[in-house]
Amino acid sequence: MENRKWEENIRRVIPYVAGEQPNKAGMIKLNTNECPYPPSPQVEKALKELDSKAFRLYPDPDNRLLTRALAEYYHVEPEQVFAGVGSDDVLSMAFMTFFNGKKPILFPDVTYSFYDVWAGLHHIPYETCPLDESWHIRPEDYRRPNGGVIFPNPNAPTGLCESLDTVEEIVRDNRDCVVIVDEAYIDFGGESALPLLKKYDNLFVVQTFSKSRAMAGMRIGFGIGNERLVKYLNDVKFSFNSYTLNLPAQVLGAEAVRDEKYFRDTTDRIIATRERVKQRLAELGFTFPDSMANFIFASHKSIPAGEIFQALRERDIYVRYWNKPRINNYLRITIGTDEEMDALLAFLENFIAGKGCR
Ligand SMILES: *Cc1c(COP(=O)(O)O)cnc(C)c1O
Repeated sequence: MENRKWEENIRRVIPYVAGEQPNKAGMIKLNTNECPYPPSPQVEKALKELDSKAFRLYPDPDNRLLTRALAEYYHVEPEQVFAGVGSDDVLSMAFMTFFNGKKPILFPDVTYSFYDVWAGLHHIPYETCPLDESWHIRPEDYRRPNGGVIFPNPNAPTGLCESLDTVEEIVRDNRDCVVIVDEAYIDFGGESALPLLKKYDNLFVVQTFSKSRAMAGMRIGFGIGNERLVKYLNDVKFSFNSYTLNLPAQVLGAEAVRDEKYFRDTTDRIIATRERVKQRLAELGFTFPDSMANFIFASHKSIPAGEIFQALRERDIYVRYWNKPRINNYLRITIGTDEEMDALLAFLENFIAGKGCR
């Protein structure tokens, strides 16, 4: 089709492709790392008690209800907390605010596939650093001139966690630029970089309510850094959209943070299921990095991942598969309830036996 004249002025981007959100009765959805359990009962209670003001009036543009609850929970100052519409919003804003140098920003070659999209959107040059053959970050790769660094810890889609020493090494080696640690999965067993904030003012730690706090649909994310960093972030946010989080999200998010016991119980349950599923997958001939997240990145010794993905899909069991270099023989399987995982394992056992592969 011939281009129209006006198309010359159009911003063209290659968008991020989110995992599908099918809605079928009886399906087993293990493709977007949501929590299989409901959010805290306190969240549901607060939802029922919401005043109509929460809908009629503009929300607090500083998200104070939520940032104060988070500051208290993480033992930081409220001025160190920045909240957004999911951590995707926080991260996009952080890219826009922190990554304005001429030099390329650095992130792993196998990682969250939104990073290169934001770099493209915000015209930020970037280079990727290959993970080693066991899927670990090589900190020495981040010891060259750059305009900033970002990596998830645990990494996605591998699930592997780097030690706090490795994270600190990267932050320490890059004191002249901002290092973002994306801790979307930190509550499932990794060690958070938050304590490093006392020593480093170039660190920004991002977390989300979407995975461990069972609120993906509410869209709540946050980042914690030193006050100066957060002030710059707020300046950009207020130049973009003052009212990002709606009031119900602020109220319900604060409730979720306060229910520590429920949060611990559900994350412990997911971790226990994950460890059990690891064992069974290994018995079925799968190999995988030792995940510290709420998913397992698994490859079968003889059946191609694409084939297993299709077979699962036909049975309405949804997992994630990327036909991309290096990872096209892996499935990313979210940890669901024990019943869901048992159904998955039973299917896999049958499917593999049917192929004569055991
Ligand atoms: C899920 C995820 C996010 C974003 O989650 P939100 O729902 O936007 O909070 C960010 N980073 C990584 C690595 C993720 O897996």
